[in-house]
Amino acid sequence: MTTPRPAILLFRNDLRLSDHPALTVAAAGGKPVICLYVNDPDAPDPIGRAQLWWLHHSLAALGRQIADLSGQLVLRAGKTRDVLGDVIRATGADAVHWSRRYTPNAIAADTALKAHLNDRGIHVESHAGRYLFEPWQIATKAGTPFRVFTPFWRSCLAQLDAAPAPLPAPDASFMRDLPSETLEGWGGLPTRPNWAAGFGSLWTPGEAGAMARLDSFLDKRAQGYAQGRDFPAATNVSNLSPHLQMGEITPRQILASLRRAEVLGDVGQRDGAKFLAEVGWRDFSAYLLYHNPTLPLEEFQPKFAPFPWRDDAKDLTAWQRGQTGYPIVDAGMRELLQTGTMHNRVRMIVASFLIKHLRINWRAGLSWFHDTLLDADVASNAASWQWVAGCGADAAPYFRIFNPITQATKFDPDGTYIRQWVPEIAALPDKYLGAPWKAPSAVLQAAHVTLGMTYPHPIVDHARARTAALAAFEGLSASA
Ligand code: FAD
Repeated sequence: MTTPRPAILLFRNDLRLSDHPALTVAAAGGKPVICLYVNDPDAPDPIGRAQLWWLHHSLAALGRQIADLSGQLVLRAGKTRDVLGDVIRATGADAVHWSRRYTPNAIAADTALKAHLNDRGIHVESHAGRYLFEPWQIATKAGTPFRVFTPFWRSCLAQLDAAPAPLPAPDASFMRDLPSETLEGWGGLPTRPNWAAGFGSLWTPGEAGAMARLDSFLDKRAQGYAQGRDFPAATNVSNLSPHLQMGEITPRQILASLRRAEVLGDVGQRDGAKFLAEVGWRDFSAYLLYHNPTLPLEEFQPKFAPFPWRDDAKDLTAWQRGQTGYPIVDAGMRELLQTGTMHNRVRMIVASFLIKHLRINWRAGLSWFHDTLLDADVASNAASWQWVAGCGADAAPYFRIFNPITQATKFDPDGTYIRQWVPEIAALPDKYLGAPWKAPSAVLQAAHVTLGMTYPHPIVDHARARTAALAAFEGLSASA
């Protein structure tokens, strides 16, 4: 009996072996599978520097997993079509499988690549797995895309129970001993300065790390999620987003584990429903981008496009470095630089501050997040920034301006979060932690705080900034 010709599994942001439809189909019929990752200089959505750190470690973990199964993760740099051509010539592979990508740039790249390979007689198949639903599966009764989350999610929930169960990792026969480059040679890790030094103790990139994170969340931290998820010092959130972003775990696996935890009584109905709805927001963001390809570039609601943005490099730098003089904003921005993530509540506060207090273009914030977040995602990032700016689909109303002082008091009432990330004001009493400039000088002195020296004065006055932002927004409606 002749051995079937090999199939190539082209890994991209799907770095796992279980619940991997592309791998399962590639390996069907006993076809040997070539696991390939291409470091493509023309990748359609170049990732930021923080995510490069994650990618390096995630690929290392996947490589070890495949080696343990007597296979090899082949690493090659170059244009994807050229590398595929080389590997096909060298191995006689007759099929290429990949997990579908949904950003406009990736759709264009994959459509062209598929046509190119088909022209050469290669079978190409793209597969689902990244989201609970494909963006074309959910529509209004009229057949149009939803623009609002609640009815979108209701429609998803109605179809969720019929969703297929996660696939086990297939018993594939992997090919090995093919020419491969090394991750070290790709230089994805920062050296001087090594700003990612703190990441390693916080994160375990890879499929095993993702599963361990999910299990520990459902075991210990999901109880109380519905309320606790708003408090940045609480440990109720899952921290799964970088794992999801790199495709080390699927939402379908999360759903299956959540349902098990609910049956066992580890997670209550309210907490489970809220958590699942947040995973639903991830689907919704991808859905919005799929149906509105300009989402990262243009205001979803065009009436906001002429907003008179300020172009102020000094204020932008103060925001990026966590030196605005507003402790809850500075805490978030420093958490981001030191850990590669930021709590969702604080993301909303810092984004609102940039857009509304500083009136700096939301695209500048989006681009900083893209470079510094380990979970940076074209769809979720764009949808969320537009949500905060008020110009997105189903967005917060533009006149909702997060007050960074009352947000600190409400969501970090004992100052645990601020004290962790802004240690130079840690000795202030709780009541002044959100607004140190309101503390009497004797209190500042006792806490060893000298405004303008040890911690900045606020770079804008909250009340004046709020009035100016509202005036700018109202100017828009007057001219519309
Ligand atoms: P959990 O609360 O445990 O939620 C579980 C999962 O649901 C998350 O891992 C995530 O995949 C998804 N999720 C939760 N909230 C949202 C949301 N609002 N929108 C979309 N998906 C959500 N999330 C990203 O994954 N990538 C981004 O680039 C990104 N940029 C953002 C920018 C701004 C300005 C804001 C306000 C939010 C952004 N978010 C982004 C959404 C959210 O902040 C993160 O997904 C969440 O903080 C991740 O933490 P977690 O995994 O502990 O979330």
